Amino acid sequence: MHHKVVIIGSGPAGLTAALYAARANLEPLVIRGLQPGGLIATTSEVENYPGFPESVGGYELAELMEKQAGRFGTQYLDAIVSSVDFTQRPFTLLTDGGQPITAETLIIATGASPRKLGVPGEEELANRGVSYCATCDGFFFRDKRVVVVGGGNSALDEGLFLTRYVSELVIVHRRDQLRADPILQERAFANPKVRFIWDSAVTEILGTDRVTGVRISNLKTGAESIEEIDGVFPYIGHVPNTTLFVDKLDLDEGGYILTDGRTRTNIPGVFAAGDVVDHIYRQAITAAGEGCMAAMEATWFLAEQEFADRKAQAQVLEPASPALGQW
Ligand code: NAP
Repeated sequence: MHHKVVIIGSGPAGLTAALYAARANLEPLVIRGLQPGGLIATTSEVENYPGFPESVGGYELAELMEKQAGRFGTQYLDAIVSSVDFTQRPFTLLTDGGQPITAETLIIATGASPRKLGVPGEEELANRGVSYCATCDGFFFRDKRVVVVGGGNSALDEGLFLTRYVSELVIVHRRDQLRADPILQERAFANPKVRFIWDSAVTEILGTDRVTGVRISNLKTGAESIEEIDGVFPYIGHVPNTTLFVDKLDLDEGGYILTDGRTRTNIPGVFAAGDVVDHIYRQAITAAGEGCMAAMEATWFLAEQEFADRKAQAQVLEPASPALGQW
């Protein structure tokens, strides 16, 4: 399994990189990873991706991107990369159970994962009332009461999606001001199913077989209370998926891959794009833009390598002309 371009990750960054690399006739391989389609595929409605005036489902958008890149020769592999070797080019990737894959260039688009609350009960009750994907699990909370934790765009967007099903949505936020865009704030404040608990943190998720409640602590007064609820959806940001690259690539203190503004990492031939790099914008459209940049950089890198290889070969085949005096 040797490829000129291998892309790890299949969110907007990875799939746009694939589209551009495929249209440059590089027949890229996309390793889909743990979350095919990336985080966008778990998003209910996407209202700010250009070209969709009536909004588009996150899953549908990811599917369309995959189809578009596939039309030009992208290959897809359902696998998870377990290790990478950057000590020499071609780079070697090992996947769970598969053959080693070698790559002349690599585009890392592994994205980010939801940040955990880190409180008692969260791990134990995962998938038994604790969920990080309203789109996937909202249906199971019909006429139930749920808590969303966080005050950003994800908390409000996904919380509003949940109001289609639930009888009450309680948003617990650690401050008394939301970070989310004004349009989402307006919708949340106007929704009769939504109630806010301000300046507060969820300190424990309660329940044995299923979630039955949460313990809430007021961060200003220290007062504790219990909300009886059926589900908890933490939306408190993300952590970059870079465990594979620790000690192999330069990362910042938050674990994001450092690039030079042109998607190039500290290893020539290894590029990175999207949420695995970006802790500022983190939008589908910016990830897609970076994916495009990474594919163009990889294309130029390969062309330069090819030129250098051909030059070296020509020098071997045609040694420099002897000096005149030697004739
Ligand atoms: P985010 O913008 O970083 O917001 C995270 C929220 O969680 C913040 O309100 C933060 O509180 C809170 N928080 C962080 N750590 C916490 C902790 N340990 N305990 C309790 N609360 C905590 O993350 P996001 O909402 O996932 O959004 C990520 C990116 O995706 C953003 O750039 C966002 O714009 C984008 N996005 C866009 C849309 C859209 O445009 N419709 C939809 C979804 C996501 P503070 O406010 O106090 O910091």
